[in-house]
Amino acid sequence: MPRRGAALIATLALATAALGTQVAFAQSGGVGAPGTTTDPTTTTGPAPPGSMIFPVAGPHTIGQGFGAARRGHTHQGQDIMAACGTPEVAVSRAKVKWVSFQKLAGNYVVIRNKKLHQDYMYAHLAARAPLRKGQIVQPGQQVGVVGQTGDATACHLHFELWLGKWYRGGHPVNPLPYLQTYQGF
Ligand SMILES: [Zn+2]
Repeated sequence: MPRRGAALIATLALATAALGTQVAFAQSGGVGAPGTTTDPTTTTGPAPPGSMIFPVAGPHTIGQGFGAARRGHTHQGQDIMAACGTPEVAVSRAKVKWVSFQKLAGNYVVIRNKKLHQDYMYAHLAARAPLRKGQIVQPGQQVGVVGQTGDATACHLHFELWLGKWYRGGHPVNPLPYLQTYQGF
């Protein structure tokens, strides 16, 4: 997967800057030597394993997945079942793009990871997210709580991962392979 490799190299390049050439170079096994240039358009894709945070900070189980049949459409996210009130957190550093309510999604929030060119949508929050549009959230920062607002029959997080911008030229992908690499899965 060249895209994944590119993302890894980009991150290792950052690590090189942060940790010093010798340490980062040793950890990388020689891949991504200092000075390697990376085309920023190739950074879309999974982040290196363990660098992202699972969006539900508490006990949870995996529910219906991407592509499940729904009335008039297919499910374009991953359901994560958890008790109402369980904290939901930012999967990465991101910018808040939308804080709103919609009759199917209920209370929802969309945050954007500019570096990875990914948008994350959290739906069915118990209450309006305590965030402002344009605000930066840090990895693991609370963005809401699990609820069942909108078209939901049980307490859960409906999580979408978009490559590119949410409903602004991007497209949703199956979040599960990404979520499986997140801390706290
Ligand atoms: Zn769902």
